[in-house]
Amino acid sequence: MNSFTDSHCHIYKEYYENIDEIIKLAKENNVSRFINNGCNLESSKEVLNLCNIYDEMYGAIGIHPEDVLNYKEEDLKFIEQNITNEKIIAIGEIGLDYYYTKENKEEQIKLFELQLNLAQKYNIPVIIHSRDATLDTINTLKKYHVKGVIHSFSGSLETALEYIKMGYLIGVNGVITFKNANIKNVIQKLPLEKIVLETDSPYLTPEPFRGKKNSPSHIIQIAEFVSHLKNVSLDELARITNNNIDELFLTK
Ligand SMILES: [Zn+2]
Repeated sequence: MNSFTDSHCHIYKEYYENIDEIIKLAKENNVSRFINNGCNLESSKEVLNLCNIYDEMYGAIGIHPEDVLNYKEEDLKFIEQNITNEKIIAIGEIGLDYYYTKENKEEQIKLFELQLNLAQKYNIPVIIHSRDATLDTINTLKKYHVKGVIHSFSGSLETALEYIKMGYLIGVNGVITFKNANIKNVIQKLPLEKIVLETDSPYLTPEPFRGKKNSPSHIIQIAEFVSHLKNVSLDELARITNNNIDELFLTK
């Protein structure tokens, strides 16, 4: 049977005491590849180091919008210097987040654009975080010829189709297993060729483990849910979503 890829996780020492164990547990649960996402300079450096240790781990490096007031220009230099590393397959996690505040909107857009510029210059995909900022995210992305994933997508069908038209895949995580999650209706209507599975570990743990710390092994609960929803076997779901990831990230 095909094994799954966790297309979005945050595997750092800050969250996991024993990363070897986390990787081992995932493999025992048929999850064999990981895209580890940095959020700032420190975690991006850690992602880079871990990718050198684990063959099956790939990395995204970038500055998250929540770090907009803390990052320095050198941090972006670090990202640019390491973009061409063969284990680094995307710039991420980057984007816009107006959930806590819109006051630094301009600074967020500036940081987002600096990183989209790098992605375009080096022809590397992006992993996008967008919360309460759909319109600005779409308008900003439209200025660049870049592809990627809209991680933890939670918008309408119309918004999903707009992103797909722009060349993006839709990231589906544990939220889909939550009671009353609207995203079920959206994912039901999207072609499997446009979605990827992710845990966003250590966050967003799927049912029935909601409330506990997440780990990439929980891709299985998400996959089981999606396989029922889309009436497709787990094996076929793994094959298609892996193929989506390979096409986007691993063929240069
Ligand atoms: Zn994330």
